[in-house]
Amino acid sequence: MSPAAGMVRTRRARRRGGDPSLSPVSGIVAIVGRPNVGKSTLFNRLTGQRHAIVDETAGLTRDRLYGVAEWRGRRFTLVDTAGLDPALVPDDPGIAELTRGTQEQARLAIEEADLCILMVDVRTGVTGLDEDVARILRSGGKPVILAGNKADSSADPYYAHELYRLGLGDPRLISALSGTDTGDLLDDVLERLPPADGAAEERVDELRVAIIGRPNVGKSSLLNCLVGEERALVSSVAGTTRDAVDTVVDHHGRQVRLVDTAGIRRRGVVSTDIEHYSLLRAMRALERSDVALVVVDSSEGIVAQDRHIAGYAAEAGKGVVVIANKWDLVPQEDRADPETLTKIGAAFDFVPGVPVLTLSALQGRNVAKVLDTAEAVADGRATRIPTSALNQLVREAVASHPPAMHRGRRLKVLYATQASSPNPTVVLFVNDPELLHFSYERYLENRIRAVFGFAGVRLRMVARRRAEPEA
Ligand code: GDP
Ligand code: GDP
Repeated sequence: MSPAAGMVRTRRARRRGGDPSLSPVSGIVAIVGRPNVGKSTLFNRLTGQRHAIVDETAGLTRDRLYGVAEWRGRRFTLVDTAGLDPALVPDDPGIAELTRGTQEQARLAIEEADLCILMVDVRTGVTGLDEDVARILRSGGKPVILAGNKADSSADPYYAHELYRLGLGDPRLISALSGTDTGDLLDDVLERLPPADGAAEERVDELRVAIIGRPNVGKSSLLNCLVGEERALVSSVAGTTRDAVDTVVDHHGRQVRLVDTAGIRRRGVVSTDIEHYSLLRAMRALERSDVALVVVDSSEGIVAQDRHIAGYAAEAGKGVVVIANKWDLVPQEDRADPETLTKIGAAFDFVPGVPVLTLSALQGRNVAKVLDTAEAVADGRATRIPTSALNQLVREAVASHPPAMHRGRRLKVLYATQASSPNPTVVLFVNDPELLHFSYERYLENRIRAVFGFAGVRLRMVARRRAEPEA
C-alpha cells in the first residue's frame, strides 16, 4: 500500500499547527456498506492498521472493529461494521448466523455513531442493497457521507453517476487501497462530525472509570460489588450523552464516577447485536473516563477481543487496569502457579506496567483493591514531568546510548518537554524526525518510564523538527 495518505496527513496537520497526538478522542464514525466494497481496507488505512487482515471472502467478521483515527488535530473513533447483504448469506448455518449478527451490528452502529460513511463500489455501481442501506441511513437522522470506493484505475468502468441515485448528495470518490483522496474524505468527516467535547477531560478531582470488556466476563457483577463496597453518593446520575447513566461513589474521600453504568447493566442477555452495542457504548463511556477497567474471564483465558479492547483504551490515552475475573473458576493448581498471572500480564504487554488484578466478582473477593489500583493508574497518568528533569534524563540517555547513524546523519535531540495533555505525551524537538528510529524512541520512552512510571498508560512520543542552533 502506498504511504501517500499518511504523509499527506502529517504534512497537513503540521501546516495547521494542530498536533493529533495531543487531543482526546471524541466522536464515533461508522463505515457502513455491503461486503467487499472496501470498508476494512479504508479502516486499516485510516487507523494505521496496515497489517490487519483483509479477507477476500465476503461476510467474514473482522479481527479489529474499531480504532482511533487522527486528522488535522482531531482524534476520533472509527468503527468498521461488517456487511449488510442478506443475499450473501450462504447455506452454512454457522456463517449465516455470523452474517445476521454483523447485519444487526451495522444497524446498531448506525444508531450509535455520530456520523456514517456509506461506502459503495464505483466499479460495480449501485446495487439494490446499497439503496436499502442508503434508505436506512437517510432516515437515521445522522450525518452521512457517501464514499465511492475503488476509483483507482482508469482501466475500470466507473458508475459514479449512479451514486446520485442514493439521495445522499455528492459522492466522494476515493481509493481506499491506494489512499487517493482519502484526505478529502477525512475533511468531509471533520466538517460534519459534532465538535469535540473538550469539557469531558477537564474535571480534575473526580476519578472517572469505565468498566469495559466482552459480554459475560462479569462487568455488571463487578459494578454491583463496587457499588456495594463503597458508599454510593448518588445511585444514578444522568451522563452527558443520551441514555448514559453514571454511578458516583465515594472511595476514601475521593469521588469516583463509574461512567455509563446503564450501558453495563443492560448486559445479561447474550447475543451478538448486544455485544456490538455494548462495545460502541463502552467507547463512548471511555471518552469520558480517565481509567478503563478491562474485565476478562480468567477461567476462559485471554482472547483476541480482550486484547483489542485494552489496546483501544490505551490508544485512546486512557489508563488501563486488567481485571482477571472469575478467578474462583480457575483450577487451584493454576491459581497457585505464578506463571498463570504472568501469562495474563504478558497478553497485555503492549500497555507497559499494566496492573492485573485477580478477582471473583461473584464472591466479592479482592474487589476492594480495584479502585485503589484505578486511582494509582490515574495518578500516574496525571504525572507532569518537570521540564528540566526531563531534559537532563534525555541528555543522559542519549549520552549513554547515542543513536545510530542513518545514511550518514545522526539524530540530535535538542529539547524535550511534556505536552499539556491529559494523554501523557512527550514532545522531542529533533534535527530531523525521520532520523528517530522506532527502537530508539522505545529506548527513550523506557528510560523516562523507569523514572516517572506511567504504569498502565501509553506514553506517546512525538518528534518535531527544530533548527539546530548555529555553532
Ligand atoms: P469490506 O468487506 O467492505 O470490508 O471490503 P474489504 O476491505 O475486505 O475489501 C474487499 C476487496 O476489495 C479486497 O480485495 C480489497 O483489496 C479490495 N479493495 C478495497 N479497496 C479497494 C480500492 O480502493 N481499489 C481496489 N481496486 N480494490 C480495493
Ligand atoms: P457482563 O455481561 O460482563 O456484565 O457479565 P455479568 O456480570 O452479567 O456476568 C456474567 C455471568 O458470569 C453471570 O452469570 C455471573 O454470575 C457470572 N460471574 C460474574 N463474575 C463471576 C465470578 O467472579 N465468578 C464466577 N464463577 N462467575 C461470575
